[in-house]
Amino acid sequence: MLDAEFFCRWLTLAASWVERDADRLTALDSPIGDADHGSNLLRGFRAVIATLDEQHPDTPGAVLAVAGRRLVSTVGGASGPLYGTLLRRTGKALGDAVEVDRDELAEALRTGVDAVAGLGGATPGDKTMLDALVPAATALRTSFAAAREAAEQGALATTPMLARKGRASYVGERSIGHQDPGATSSALLVAALAETAGA
Ligand code: ADP
Ligand code: MG
Ligand code: MG
Repeated sequence: MLDAEFFCRWLTLAASWVERDADRLTALDSPIGDADHGSNLLRGFRAVIATLDEQHPDTPGAVLAVAGRRLVSTVGGASGPLYGTLLRRTGKALGDAVEVDRDELAEALRTGVDAVAGLGGATPGDKTMLDALVPAATALRTSFAAAREAAEQGALATTPMLARKGRASYVGERSIGHQDPGATSSALLVAALAETAGA
């Protein structure tokens, strides 16, 4: 079973991987964006960890709600409200359960991913974070390892896509041939989740 401590460990690991990969995420955002994705997430996740250390939320839903609010308030770019919505809506779907299992998390994550699609108006194939998140949410019904693999494959699959949403859509055909930064950071977050679960 997954408790508040598990979710804090996940976000702490994710934050450390964001630190490690921030330059790479920013470099991916350079040809098809404004070269700030790594620094956006770095600022956001540092704030998330600081707030979790202060507040010690005691349910999975509360951890995700606190983290999501912090991302919205600290990340100026598109990814702040989108990831903030993902975490807040996933957390809300978990309710006030003290522990949840993987199936419950998979179902809640589906709700969170749907909310991201609702907010940003994107669907899979548009070259966004949804290309990693949608397959990951489906695969999480099978296992953490399957979710990690699905997110990674989903991120890689964005390279040949034409961007239809967000800043990358402004460069039109020139978006083709570059991996989407948000799909890449989504794969990182899902990989950190699987790692935390021991998968
Ligand atoms: P900004 O584009 O405002 O500088 P970031 O660079 O932090 O924000 O994040 C860019 C990422 O956000 C993109 O790579 C993409 O994955 C994601 N993104 C942008 N717009 C949307 C959208 N409408 N729906 C889903 N994801 C989006
Ligand atoms: Mg950017
Ligand atoms: Mg920006």
